[in-house]
Amino acid sequence: MKIIDHIKNSKKTLFSFELLPPLKGHNISGIYRTIAPLMEFNPSFINITYHQEEVVYKKHKSGLLEKKIVRKRPGTVAISAAIKYKYPAVDVVPHLICGGFSREDTEYALIDFHFLGINNILALRGDPPKAQRVFTPEKDGHQYACALVSQIMDMNRGKYLDDELENTTATDFCVGVAGYPEKHLESPNVTTDLKYLKQKIDAGAEYIITQMFYDNQKYFSFVKNCRDAGIMVPIIPGLKPITTLKDMGTLPQVFNIDIPEDLVKELNKCKSNEDAFHVGVEWSTVQSKELIGFGVPVLHYFTIGISENIRQIVSSVF
Ligand code: FAD
Repeated sequence: MKIIDHIKNSKKTLFSFELLPPLKGHNISGIYRTIAPLMEFNPSFINITYHQEEVVYKKHKSGLLEKKIVRKRPGTVAISAAIKYKYPAVDVVPHLICGGFSREDTEYALIDFHFLGINNILALRGDPPKAQRVFTPEKDGHQYACALVSQIMDMNRGKYLDDELENTTATDFCVGVAGYPEKHLESPNVTTDLKYLKQKIDAGAEYIITQMFYDNQKYFSFVKNCRDAGIMVPIIPGLKPITTLKDMGTLPQVFNIDIPEDLVKELNKCKSNEDAFHVGVEWSTVQSKELIGFGVPVLHYFTIGISENIRQIVSSVF
């Protein structure tokens, strides 16, 4: 089922979560171990992230460095298909990014999803690879997620890149996009960021999943600002429970988000990562309950390969 239909057909808040493909060299059993404890809470859908190639330098015995292009977490398409067939009641939402994809590559990826019967996509630009500061699209690739949404919508109208194709089959993708309650890192200001978010919706995206946030007021203001800007689609809050003490420093840096003072105080009392894990569960549980009270369509959790915290949260929330 399309994510937008899950939302339209439900009067209560739904549950969903995001998974990362395993690091190259590991098998899919870790994915199933993450999913299994969460199945009793009837997730409506599971997202699978997409990871583009990165440049790494391999040191040889001679001391010379070899530049290599690697994909550390391959397998998004295969994992999506494997989950779809193992858990037929759950929909999968593979992420598709602009980075590393030409338009042709994008079309082939969409054809694969279409043939696999996967009709939900989260369309993203992707971050610049670690060694680069600025996002650079592939030759003939998309610079912004908005253009990726447009390409998918073209295929939904039966328009492929080769306009000489005849009697083409129209795809039927339901597309979601990312939104940033605390503004995207590269955006000069909130108003500009919202203008570009609206472009993605006008291009055909049907819902938004937000970046993580730890202060629900940021989400409430974001929803209001979106509505004022004419963005009327469902806005799904994304939540990532804190799991380690290190998160306090890394999350703001990587995701351009604030950790509220009260949460920092609680984390500063922790003597171990185990303590921080419990604080993360408690904070996220309170956030989740308030968001349900607000009437959010879905609570979407970023698992980062750990499901015990999500299990504890959803068991007291749903
Ligand atoms: P865009 O919507 O293209 O926006 C990128 C920046 O450009 C923003 O600052 C925006 O304001 C600006 N902008 C947009 N359009 C224009 C325009 N026409 N002119 C000028 N500026 C413009 N990354 C991955 O690599 N893989 C994943 O699986 C993944 N999953 C994610 C899931 C969620 C829920 C979220 C919130 C993020 C995810 N990301 C993922 C991270 C995402 O790719 C990065 O945040 C990326 O930097 C921006 O992606 P976007 O789709 O929001 O980009």
